[in-house]
Amino acid sequence: MSSTRVLLFVPMRKVYLDNNATTPVDNAVLEAMTVYLTTSFGNSSSMHQYGQEARSGVDSAREQVSDLIGADSSEIVFTSGGTEADNLGVIGGALARESRGKHVITSRVEHPAVLKACEELESLGFQVTSLDVDRGGVIRLDQLEAALSEDTVLVSIMSANNETGVIQPIQKISRVLKRRDVLLHVDAVQSVGKVPLDVKELGVDLLSLSAHKFHGPKGAGALYVRSGLELVPRMLGGGQERSRRGGTTNVPGIVGLGKACAVANAGLEDFGTRVSRLRNELEEGILAAVPAAVVNGNTSRRMPHVSNLGFRGLSGESILVALDFEGVAVSTGAACSSGSVAPSHVLTAMALPEEQVNGAIRFSLSRMTEAEDISYAVEAVTRVVARMQEAASG
Ligand code: PLP
Repeated sequence: MSSTRVLLFVPMRKVYLDNNATTPVDNAVLEAMTVYLTTSFGNSSSMHQYGQEARSGVDSAREQVSDLIGADSSEIVFTSGGTEADNLGVIGGALARESRGKHVITSRVEHPAVLKACEELESLGFQVTSLDVDRGGVIRLDQLEAALSEDTVLVSIMSANNETGVIQPIQKISRVLKRRDVLLHVDAVQSVGKVPLDVKELGVDLLSLSAHKFHGPKGAGALYVRSGLELVPRMLGGGQERSRRGGTTNVPGIVGLGKACAVANAGLEDFGTRVSRLRNELEEGILAAVPAAVVNGNTSRRMPHVSNLGFRGLSGESILVALDFEGVAVSTGAACSSGSVAPSHVLTAMALPEEQVNGAIRFSLSRMTEAEDISYAVEAVTRVVARMQEAASG
C-alpha cells in the first residue's frame, strides 16, 4: 500500500480573540452548574424538597444578577439568552403600550435580535424609525429628539456595539425620554459583566444581558424589567417568572449565569485596566507594523476589550482564514452573521470607506487573555498581512 505523506501545519500557539462571539465558561461557573445538573436536578416549580433545592439556586442567582446591575431581584426575568431578552423587551414592551401609540425608535447599528424584533412590530402595524450613526458609530441625540412623536412608546438602543465596541450615550438618552414617558430598552449584552453598569443610574426601563458573553453558559440570559412595568409575554406557557416568561426554568443555566455575574462583579476593575492595556498593546502593535490598518469606530467611546481594524486593500474574510491557520481566532463582524458575504450593516451604517468595511477584522479579548497571546497575535497578523500584500502585488 502506498503511503501518503500529509503535511499538517500546527500553529505554535492557539489564541482566542473572538470573545464578543462567545467566551469560555469559568471553572467556578461550571462547578456551580454541575450541582444543579446532578444532585439538585429538581424542577424549581415543584413543591417537594428537590424542587425547593432547585428554587433556592434560582433565587440566589436572581440576587447575583440583580447585584451586578443595581436592580432589585424581583426585576429580573430569566430568558434563554440575549436574543430572547431583546425580543421580549422590544416587542413585549411596545405591545404593552400600544394603546398609547404605535411608534418605536431604534438605530441602524443594533444587533439583529433588536432589528428583527422591530420588523416584527412593523408587521403588527407599528412604525419604526432607525437612527443613523456618525462615522464613529455613535447616534446623535438631536436626531433622536427630532424622531420622537406623540405616538412613540419605546426606544431601543444598545449600550455597546458587538462589532466595534462603541458605547452609546445611554444616560443622556434616558434623560431625554424621561421628560416624555417613553420606555427605554437597552441591549447591554456586550457590556454587562465587563464594565460597571447600574440600571437606576442609567435610568433604563428594560435591559438585556446574556451569560455566554462573560464566561457563563450559552442559552441563559435575563431581561431587567423596571418594577411596575407592564410587559406582554412572548413565551406562553406556565406561570414561571411571574407569568412574564413561560417554560420550565433552566436551573443549571440560571445558576451558571448567577455565578458568572458574581465572578464578573468582583473583577470589573481589573477588566477595565488589565484588559484595556492588552487591547491597546494589540492595536498599537498592529497599527505600527501594518500601515494599511485603521481603527473602525470612535476610540474615545469604546469598550476596553474590543478593537475593530480595517485592513485597507485586503479582504477581512481572507485575513480571518489565514489567521485561523496561525492559531489566532478572530471575526470579521458579528458571529451570528458569519457565513453570509454581505458587508457588515454596522460598518456600512457608519459610512466608512468600502475598503475599510471589506477589510474589517474584530479582535475581542476577555479577562482570560494573556500578554503572550497579544504578542503572538501581533506577530501573526503582521506575517499574514505581509504575505497577502505580497501576493496581491504580484
Ligand atoms: N445583542 C448583542 C449586542 C449581541 O452581541 C448578541 C450576541 O452576539 C445578542 C444580542 C444575542 O445574544 P444571545 O447569543 O445570547 O442570543
